[in-house]
Amino acid sequence: MLNIDQHVHTNASPDGRAPIEAIVASAKAKGLTHLALTDHYESMPADPQFFVHDNNKGWFAAAQDRYHTVMRDAWENGERAKQLAGEDLTVVIGIELGSPLDDLPRTEEILAAHDYGFILASQHNNTARPDFYYLQHFPELDLLVELDRYFDALYEIVQWGKFHSLAHLTYPFRYIPSDRMPPHTRRWDEQIDAILRLLAEKGLALEVNTAGLRKGLGVTSPDLTIVRRFKQLGGELITIGSDAHLAEDVGADLEQGAALCREAGFRYVARYVDGKPILTAI
Ligand SMILES: [Zn+2]
Ligand SMILES: [Zn+2]
Repeated sequence: MLNIDQHVHTNASPDGRAPIEAIVASAKAKGLTHLALTDHYESMPADPQFFVHDNNKGWFAAAQDRYHTVMRDAWENGERAKQLAGEDLTVVIGIELGSPLDDLPRTEEILAAHDYGFILASQHNNTARPDFYYLQHFPELDLLVELDRYFDALYEIVQWGKFHSLAHLTYPFRYIPSDRMPPHTRRWDEQIDAILRLLAEKGLALEVNTAGLRKGLGVTSPDLTIVRRFKQLGGELITIGSDAHLAEDVGADLEQGAALCREAGFRYVARYVDGKPILTAI
């Protein structure tokens, strides 16, 4: 049983709901031994015009300056979690950097402000485009173009490389309505291979994100095919995270994620403490 969750959002994240006390209680109840808190920082949040729902307390009007407050609250939550954790649970204060290159000086400023023990990198929206989460509201977007841009951006993020694990590589696919799914998803195989190869070369980790399993997608992000490919291309480091935004989702489906990694040929997953990977047998 895998007891390591390396992707959890507290209520400091604009789309997070869970108070830190509830997160720690849930982690302990599930017997977790390692918990990385990874609240959002978006270097360049999607333009507010694209936020069609205001169901998450101000994300609607997200502006960059807001993130200084978010990161301060996130750090305070992390410190509190460490107090509450007790001996059996290691808490690492991490961060999820969204579109880190869109405003690199701001990203570097945020990273310099705190000593994050674990850094995820991700891309939720292409520059000047809505978060893929809102895709259903934008039927006019050419998904082939947007996905080409998405994977190009991920490659550039890996080239930059100042993070530990690349989060939910297939994020847009979570949100593409079935009637708009491009017929040739193999179109991106070469781009994905290039991303995986570069991760491996740089000694960076690939995240297996289990959120898709509980959100109706039925697969992790990325899925077995891509995780296996990472192994074939020399990848050694994998992190697994629930991407929980609710306390009850902390630790969700970690064992399924671990089983997938085993099937892909991995014998270890990495957990990060002070930015260093510690291998744990799975
Ligand atoms: Zn994310
Ligand atoms: Zn996340």
